[in-house]
Amino acid sequence: MLKSNHPELTTWIKVPENSDFPIQNLPYGIAASGDLIFIATRIGDTVVDISVLVDFGYFDSLEIPDLSIFYEKSLNELALLPKNLRIAIRERLTEIFSSSNMELQGNEEVLQLALHQAEQVQMLMPVQVGDYTDFYSSIEHATNVGKIFRDPEKALLPNWKHLPVGYHGRASSIVVSGTSIHRPKGQTRPNNDEETPHFGPSKQLDFELEMAFITSIKTNLGDSIPVDQAEDAIFGMVIFNDLSARDIQNWEYVPLGPFLSKSFGSVISPWVITMEALEPFRTKGPIQEPEVLPYLQIKGDHNFDIQLEVAIRPQKAEQTIVCQSNTKYLYWNMAQQLTHQTVAGCNINPGDMYASGTISGPSPDSFGSMLELSWKGTRPVKMKDGSERNFIHDYDTITMKATAQKNGVRIGFGECITQILPAK
Ligand code: CA
Repeated sequence: MLKSNHPELTTWIKVPENSDFPIQNLPYGIAASGDLIFIATRIGDTVVDISVLVDFGYFDSLEIPDLSIFYEKSLNELALLPKNLRIAIRERLTEIFSSSNMELQGNEEVLQLALHQAEQVQMLMPVQVGDYTDFYSSIEHATNVGKIFRDPEKALLPNWKHLPVGYHGRASSIVVSGTSIHRPKGQTRPNNDEETPHFGPSKQLDFELEMAFITSIKTNLGDSIPVDQAEDAIFGMVIFNDLSARDIQNWEYVPLGPFLSKSFGSVISPWVITMEALEPFRTKGPIQEPEVLPYLQIKGDHNFDIQLEVAIRPQKAEQTIVCQSNTKYLYWNMAQQLTHQTVAGCNINPGDMYASGTISGPSPDSFGSMLELSWKGTRPVKMKDGSERNFIHDYDTITMKATAQKNGVRIGFGECITQILPAK
């Protein structure tokens, strides 16, 4: 176990009870305060400007070849550091902020510059996303969608258990939590072959509860990443709300897959939770039967036990939790996804994003989209204010949360929030 993961660790920074950000978390993000934009970590409700600690020599003991990575306005260069150096930075942060350590504690000159209250900073996109892939790795979700749109008897297509199905998505429309998204307009299916398609604001706007991982290495075109090395190429994870317009999707997706129904806005949580922080939460994934091809076979525990939750808040009303799921349900794990992504020779870069696909669990209250929760509008979801939802209404706010808990340590992802505004 890394020292930085020890459940007994405490810090001299105040951490509220049930905070997502104990000393064992140490996520990375990009924060803005006035004109300052800086690489940050967070402990409790305190956001730490890491570049200030670098200024004052707190990282001089580490053999980091180029300290300019700490002055970037994205985490891409930090992610690109070799894994052993990323671990060394994490361990050093743990040391500096541990209760008994006096290097920084009480040093008012540095603290004044380095510490910010979370409510007084704005969180920006943590990475510059060059490329984005969306997988389809929950067997429950793929089965539900197959039942709803195709044949209940043959809900899963023949390839599904042999490869992690995915598509190349749009990176430009991935935005950080807190960004509002306008309801998309588009073409929808005509009632019959004689009619022309309809055009207008989507009537079936949906969320998709997903998690995404961010890669930490650069590979050459033609190279592929062996499955037992794939996790070392992952920097960390965020919550990913893949907003989807079901009516637009239904008309456009054959034969080449989703297009405009998925590219009008996807929202991520601002803090990247590192693979090191998530290490204690490894768990077994579902049994893969039939056996997968050798290049996708991996031994050990490669799923993660992270509780997920989605709430919808209608305008001026209390929020209702509509879904509770868990990343452990994913049939295909991140190592298999990344290996499959590169097996044909596709090159990857630090900061690239790979979303899991909607994470549905086995029970109806764990389904990760309104499409499944309302079973395509046939079982409306009741809200606390008495209203009902088949899909998302204008001015609804969608909040996703993710937390891993074990041995009294709670590692949270913070929140991934977006409000839906009327079509432009
Ligand atoms: Ca998706």
